[in-house]
Amino acid sequence: MIKKLDGIFVVPGEKLGVVEEFDPGRGTVEVDGIVYSSQTGTAALDPKRHVVTVKAATGPPVVPEEGSSITGIVEKVQEKMAIINIVVVDGKKMELPFTGMLHISNSSPRFERVMGEVCKPNDIIRAKVIDTSQRIPKLTTIGRELGVIKAYCSRCGNELVLSGRILRCSVCRNVERRRLAEDFETETEVPS
Ligand SMILES: [Zn+2]
Repeated sequence: MIKKLDGIFVVPGEKLGVVEEFDPGRGTVEVDGIVYSSQTGTAALDPKRHVVTVKAATGPPVVPEEGSSITGIVEKVQEKMAIINIVVVDGKKMELPFTGMLHISNSSPRFERVMGEVCKPNDIIRAKVIDTSQRIPKLTTIGRELGVIKAYCSRCGNELVLSGRILRCSVCRNVERRRLAEDFETETEVPS
């Protein structure tokens, strides 16, 4: 029973046990002999000292770390690199905007000549963080599930759709190139 508590996710007010089992430690509160969690986090049990603690799950805001999967909006595209406005990190929406950088050498297993063939402003891109040693995290889109997941026409701004292997504007029929994620939505034939 007590062992089960170790490592589980708890919320404030959740009953952890009674004082006969263990003493209330950091992140818990005792009311009339019952120990409750006082914060959201992970319960930890010290079996030697018979103390239960809850380590807060909330803390510093979500920031991209090496290995994080991110979703972002392409903000600026230069010849060899793109600036990505990161909006989601590991499935969590970021509270503050965070900028990442995608260099052309990390964009594709094939060598694209210009960044404009990888992505264009306003596209939505899925990437992985590979380096956070500098102020701006470096991203990669090398990987089948990585790359552009939504693309917009550079001529008229409407959505581009994939038809076979051709990426074409749904409105002006302009054909463009991108480094697409494997699951980029393919146009489905609508019977007329
Ligand atoms: Zn168009």
